[in-house]
Amino acid sequence: MTGYKYAFFNNKIDNIENAKISIMTNALQYGTGVFGGIRGYYNSEKNFISIFRLKEHYTRLLASIKILGCDFDYSVDQLCEITIELIRQNQIKKNTYCRPFAYLSTHKLGPNLAHEKLAFCMYMIPLEDYLPTDKGLNLQVSSWRRVSDNAIPSRGKFSGAYLNSAFARKEAADNGYDEAIFLNEAGNVCEGSAENIFIVRNNTLITPDVTSNILEGITRNTLIQIAKENNINVIERAVDRSELYVADEVFLSGTGCQLAWIKSIDKRLIGNGEIGKISEFLRAKYLNIVKGNDAQYTDACTIVEMN
Ligand code: PMP
Repeated sequence: MTGYKYAFFNNKIDNIENAKISIMTNALQYGTGVFGGIRGYYNSEKNFISIFRLKEHYTRLLASIKILGCDFDYSVDQLCEITIELIRQNQIKKNTYCRPFAYLSTHKLGPNLAHEKLAFCMYMIPLEDYLPTDKGLNLQVSSWRRVSDNAIPSRGKFSGAYLNSAFARKEAADNGYDEAIFLNEAGNVCEGSAENIFIVRNNTLITPDVTSNILEGITRNTLIQIAKENNINVIERAVDRSELYVADEVFLSGTGCQLAWIKSIDKRLIGNGEIGKISEFLRAKYLNIVKGNDAQYTDACTIVEMN
């Protein structure tokens, strides 16, 4: 994957060639970092990038750092400004993914976050689909359990926790599936390796509640909001594994995958194996909103005019 020319590193925008870290970096060895994933959508007609819910992404990043209990020099507003400036300097004219990363850059031996301040860096890459969107996905319930709140809280986007995701994705891919679904230690449905999950039963949208060991997804919140505004009943509650099999519709949500509809889970066809009505409706609304085209949601989009 090739990134754009400029990255943010060592407190400044610099050529990505200079954005290099030592093999002794604590975060590299122990996963002592937190990251974000933000999308910018390019509008070629009007020549702007629409960044969706920029502030919310950085508010969540700072919340993750708070859970770690580390110091950090940047505010939400500063992080937003850095992102906008980096998009400008990279003269981005494609759909793009931004990866901010706050990490323990010291070369100390041992995992220890006490009295530490995190460094900050960010790169950007062009990105279209993260998961295929031209077909329904075939998923597998993973034999791996999601890390729990008293192990590595899923509420934070901690880099070390993504080894858990990597185990599940490997198992799914090895078995010929597109993605994995985690259960939590209680045996309830949690989320995908990097996506939240929704099911539809009897026209009601149901998704695991925020105490089910999930990341509090920004796309998840947005889809809940859109559903409620359009008189679709939404319930956040514990979801059983077997509810997945009998659901009328299932989809994954996330900044990366946007809204990806599910064709089968553990070889059980979901609904009639086609995209469901509610999934289709929410996906169309969501994609229109994030691109900066919905007047009701202009506040949620940061528009960066390109030269
Ligand atoms: N769960 C996990 C584990 C994730 O990594 C992500 C991606 N950030 C999500 C859910 C979806 O979150 P969001 O909608 O904020 O991208």
